[in-house]
Amino acid sequence: MLTRRALIAVAAIAGGALLAAATSPVTAQPQTETVPERGVYTVLDAEDAAERTTVAGSGVDVLGSRDGELTVVASPAQARSLRAGGFSLEQVGDFDAMLADRSGGRSAQGVDEFPAGDENYHTYAELTEELKATERDHADLATLSSVGRSHEDRELHLIKISDNPDIDEDEPEVLFTCNQHAREHLTTEMCLHIVQRFTDGYAEDAAIKKLVDTREILVVPTVNPDGAEYDISEGQYQGWRKNRQNEGTDLNRNWGHQWGCCGGSSDRPSSETYRGPSAFSAPESKALADFVDSRVVGESQQIKAHIDFHTYSELVLWPYGYTDADTGPGMTSAEAQRFQDVGKQLAQTNGYQPQQSSDLYITDGSVNDWMWAEHKILSFTFEMYPSDGIGLDGFYPPDEVIPRETARNDEAVDTLLRAAG
Ligand SMILES: [Zn+2]
Repeated sequence: MLTRRALIAVAAIAGGALLAAATSPVTAQPQTETVPERGVYTVLDAEDAAERTTVAGSGVDVLGSRDGELTVVASPAQARSLRAGGFSLEQVGDFDAMLADRSGGRSAQGVDEFPAGDENYHTYAELTEELKATERDHADLATLSSVGRSHEDRELHLIKISDNPDIDEDEPEVLFTCNQHAREHLTTEMCLHIVQRFTDGYAEDAAIKKLVDTREILVVPTVNPDGAEYDISEGQYQGWRKNRQNEGTDLNRNWGHQWGCCGGSSDRPSSETYRGPSAFSAPESKALADFVDSRVVGESQQIKAHIDFHTYSELVLWPYGYTDADTGPGMTSAEAQRFQDVGKQLAQTNGYQPQQSSDLYITDGSVNDWMWAEHKILSFTFEMYPSDGIGLDGFYPPDEVIPRETARNDEAVDTLLRAAG
């Protein structure tokens, strides 16, 4: 009887033969001891954006990127295919074993709770409580509502912070959104930190008071509550990225500008970057887009600036993501320059690396492209801490880092609020 390892090796040889017939000759690769079903690899030589787009477009799950090195999760076939395409892959681990390790021996008390030791992250129920408490304690500064409901019928909370929050004043609005990707839990904490800072800090901090008095701050702490809850189900991390509609849609490939245009997303439902059957097929991206559309008052979009928070890689990214050109329809060179200037200014405050989104690799159907193209909103993506990570560490940093890594963006948030004026 063949062992499991031998079976995988046989499958690898068969797959390799098929691949060799379809493409160029396969160079011999040193076989690692085992080939995990979901292996974590560092792709060493994806040095330019075109090469990284090839890697991302192969269907692998790109976890992070820094200085030309991508960390990806790949099936044996995907890993072979990339190697056949000339990429050097270094196996760093078995994704499923790493997931179990990361949560192992630290199981939560119950389902839908963070593993023991990470309790300072907020579950959806805890987040909801916290937002209600904020509204209760700061009724003069904050109102809690919702932009709509998720696929599994959870409220997509929206909190508005301003001096007269019940009134739609003629002040620039700035939007912060978090957690489009389920496993990026640090981002939910980022949005919550923004909410707490601008409410709790109002009475004592003159700079905060000034911003709250002259802006309307809009925060959606989780755009993907179903995915986030699933990611901590059964008391351990699941490594889940998408929403929970069928096999899951990548919300940040589902937006309606140049949706699916350019090889920056997948049409296969099993892919981690599945764009959905049509633009805005996901209720979560649709609800958020409808809310932004609704902020057009007297033909003028009230939201002037936006950050969508992700993890990880420590990057400040701006549109367009669907093209590697700096300019394009709806993006003049002066506008591209403004993105560059503000992006660099933001990055100076937090030490992230600033670049146009497509300098990383092509993405289509992203929130930033839509926000800018449809509404001329100065829209950035922040990829938060850490700068790099071995496999899953990047998504599941210990909860001890929450205060430091959220406060790290205070100045960037203030800078963008001022720039919106
Ligand atoms: Zn993300």
